[in-house]
Amino acid sequence: MVTAKDIRAAQPRIRDIVRETPMKPSASLSRLIGGPVWLKCEHRQETGAFKLRGAANAVARLGKVAGVTTASTGNHGRALAYAARAKGIPAVICVSALVPRNKLEAIAALGAEARVIGTSQDAAFEEALRLQRDAGFALVPPFDHADVIAGQGTLGLEILGSLPDAAAIAVPLSGGGLLAGVAVAAKAVNPDLRIIGISMERGAAMAASLKAGHPVEVRELPTLADSLGGGIGPQNRLTFRMVGDLIDELILLSEAEIAAGIRHLALEDGETVEGAAAVGAGAILAGKLRGPFPLVLILSGGNIDPSRHAEIVAGGA
Ligand SMILES: *Cc1c(COP(=O)(O)O)cnc(C)c1O
Repeated sequence: MVTAKDIRAAQPRIRDIVRETPMKPSASLSRLIGGPVWLKCEHRQETGAFKLRGAANAVARLGKVAGVTTASTGNHGRALAYAARAKGIPAVICVSALVPRNKLEAIAALGAEARVIGTSQDAAFEEALRLQRDAGFALVPPFDHADVIAGQGTLGLEILGSLPDAAAIAVPLSGGGLLAGVAVAAKAVNPDLRIIGISMERGAAMAASLKAGHPVEVRELPTLADSLGGGIGPQNRLTFRMVGDLIDELILLSEAEIAAGIRHLALEDGETVEGAAAVGAGAILAGKLRGPFPLVLILSGGNIDPSRHAEIVAGGA
């Protein structure tokens, strides 16, 4: 398990790589819901998402390694490549041949090698395991790892640091590293603070697992909240239990509700976020999230294709 002490220890460790992101009030959402709503603008983090916190902490905690690897091509792969370069450690991001060219270029632009293996995510993950076994690489997973969770938890410390009387935090939920870390940090300051997890209705593995009482696989479906897709791992060690212990409420959103969140944040608050980061606003607009106040929404990332974003904002989801 991860403690508040682990999270406080992570904060100075990642300070040279990770920036403190702004908290700003949302006048429009506060008016809509009848109480103060704050936005934690983590989409303005270096690499465009909070994942840099966990990756930076995990990389900083490594002993002597030949390099670091992972099979994630999303925000975690990007964060790991960035954190490794900052420490002068080689990074190999294992990807399947199905991954689009622009993603390979983005990984290469961060100084990492995108190693194309096979035609499935499983094959890419096998290669990451092989590098760990045979080449002295450290495999840094996207959420189910104590150092990663502690790094994500620094976001919770920042929120409580700027808004000590926060009553609730709405957290986009996928594998649960973000929610677990933020919840431990925030509840250490205020045990009554409510942690509200939000996922999409389509293929939310953590929601299905919590309901079943054990990690289950779900069929992955395309969603606007693409950073919330993927499983929690049948051998999940930490986040399944931590999320189960720490979450106070779980909200699921339709694709139209997520799109409305993206649109509202762009038009009313001037923030460009990806689908995963818009779920808090989407839940308020849908009448599914009603407080308590002050309520903080984590805008977890901003990595969305600009033309797709423009299309959604124009109302064509
Ligand atoms: C990874 C990610 C999440 C979910 O984080 P977990 O730790 O997997 O629950 C939410 N938003 C964005 C933008 C992400 O990249």
